[in-house]
Order: sequence, then C-alpha cells, then structure tokens
Amino acid sequence: MALGVMHIRESTEALEQRVLHPLAARSSQTLGREVPEAPCSIRTVFQRDRDRILHSKAFRRLKHKTQMFIAPVGDHYRTRLTHSLEVAQVSRTIARALRLNEDLTESIALAHDVGHPPFGHTGEHVLDELSPIGFHHQKQGLRIVKTLEKLNLTVEVLDGMEGTTEQKPNFLTLEAQIVDTADRMAYLHHDVEDARRAGIMLDSDLPTEILETLGHTRHERLDRMVIDIVRHSLTAMESDEPRIALSSEIREAVMGLRQWMFDHIYLAPERLEQTENVRRVITALYEFYMKRPELLSDNLPETDPVERRILDYISGMTDRFAIEAYQAHLLPNTYQAFTVNRPYEGLS
Ligand code: MG
Repeated sequence: MALGVMHIRESTEALEQRVLHPLAARSSQTLGREVPEAPCSIRTVFQRDRDRILHSKAFRRLKHKTQMFIAPVGDHYRTRLTHSLEVAQVSRTIARALRLNEDLTESIALAHDVGHPPFGHTGEHVLDELSPIGFHHQKQGLRIVKTLEKLNLTVEVLDGMEGTTEQKPNFLTLEAQIVDTADRMAYLHHDVEDARRAGIMLDSDLPTEILETLGHTRHERLDRMVIDIVRHSLTAMESDEPRIALSSEIREAVMGLRQWMFDHIYLAPERLEQTENVRRVITALYEFYMKRPELLSDNLPETDPVERRILDYISGMTDRFAIEAYQAHLLPNTYQAFTVNRPYEGLS
C-alpha cells in the first residue's frame, strides 16, 4: 500500500510505539519546544532537531576546534567534529541495542559540544577566569542553540545538552544518560589513539589492570565498553531505579584510564606549555576587543552588553580563527604596499 507523504511521520511514531522499550523517549510524547511549531509531515521532532543541529554554523565550526591537540596538522587526528560524530555513533549503537530512541541520542550527541571555545578545556578555563559573566561550554551550547542560532530544539535535547549539575542531578531521559557515558567512552578511546599516533605514548604504557580489564587493543577496548554498558543497562533498566550504567568493574577501569590520561597526557609538561600559549592568545584577544568592540561580529545581538558579545565572539572562534585574529590584531603586520593607485611609484 502506498504511503502518502502526509502520514510518514505518524507511521514512524506508531513504529516507535510498537518497537521501543517502555522507558524510551517517544517522539509523539515530546515535552515540546519553547515556541510551538506545526509538525513536519516526514520527520519526527527528534529527527528534525538532529537536522537543525547538523545544519547549524556552530556544528560546522567544530571541524576546526581542539579535541586534544591544538589545530592538528595531521589529517587523522580528531577534532571536536569527529569526536562528536564518534559519540553519536557509539550512542546510537547503545540506544538501538537497548531499544531506546536512537534519533534522540543522535541529536544530543551531535549537539553536546557545540558550545566549546577554541583550544578545548584550556580555552574554556581562561574565558571563565577573564569574563565577569563566567564561561562553561555546556551553558554556551544552550545559548547558541536557543538565542544565537534560534534552533528551537525540544526540551529533551536541551536537557541532554545541559548535562547534570548540583541543581539538576538527573537527566530527563535514558537517552541523555547514554550520550553522557558514550562521550567519556569515546574521548578516552580516541585520545589514547591520538596520543599513540603522536608518539607520546604506547598502548603498553597503560597500567596492566586497565589493559586486562578493558583490552589490549583499541578495538577490544571500545567493544568491551559498549557490550558492558548494553548488558549492564538491560538489567539496570528493569530495576526500581532504571538507568544506563557500566558494570562496577568496567566503570572503575574507565575511571582509572581517565586518571592515567590526566596524569600522563592531558597535564603533561609539554601540554602545560601550550596552556600558557593559549592563555596568552585568549587573554590578549579579550583585552583587545574590550578596547575595540566595534570589531566584534555584527551578527551578535546589539542589545547585549559588550562583555556578553565578547564572550560569544571569542568562544565561537575556531582554533585557527583565534590564531589568525591574534596575528591580525596583536602582532606587527608586515607592510603591504598599495597595489593600485601608487602616485609616487618610480619617482626615485
Ligand atoms: Mg564531548
């Protein structure tokens, strides 16, 4: 029977009703958007959110933002864009295995890092110290999708992007919990690989307990984490407190790996040198735009105070844009001879 375009979304919603786990977020039962909208004839609300994020400017800028290495020259290093795609892939695998809403996990995963400033967490800390408003990438992500790009996303996607805090200790959906764990699994997994590629470490440098529990190769490690979270969550979803969780054995190994990466890679002396360079660039740009606010992008809301616009502008920069802005505004420029209308040319 031919399916009229008008009924495609309804049929997808009915399919969700039939095949998804009772605890899954159902697109037909969404908590909605801040500004109500007419439904799409083809896509569910969560599919629509995913497309909005994918088409946003903030998402495209992730291509040139630091994951672990600043503006990496090698083509195989992760950037925040490839990191987000890997988080989306891991999240979708887990969601599908658990019969949870894959479209919702994909939307949250693609959006989860759009608020990151240039130069990763170092850039984030420097901006937070400099600005009287304070800076956090998750809050900035929400500001981008709500105010700056006005994507009008669903409450469920915004909740996943917000993360958990002291005031908001829980996520609204299991799908958001999946992305939260998949993020950590993905970055630990690929940061080990990128650090190996860069010649900073060998797999065999990792502590034996971690290698034995998580696996000796990168394929083994990711596989083991994903299988563990699926297996353990299947049981945890049947309990009185349904949740997405790793077994305590794998969770401890993951925490151990995280700590090892901090001690040996993220906070290694060579990287701390880069931290100082990042601090210098971001601080200089911040002070420069305080003196020259007319040079801020005119796409930013004019009614916002200058501190707000500077924060939005600098945090929106990619690594390379920030470096270019620093070079253009804060280093002596080479003299550029006029190419046209040179009245004194040839006089001496
Ligand atoms: Mg992330």
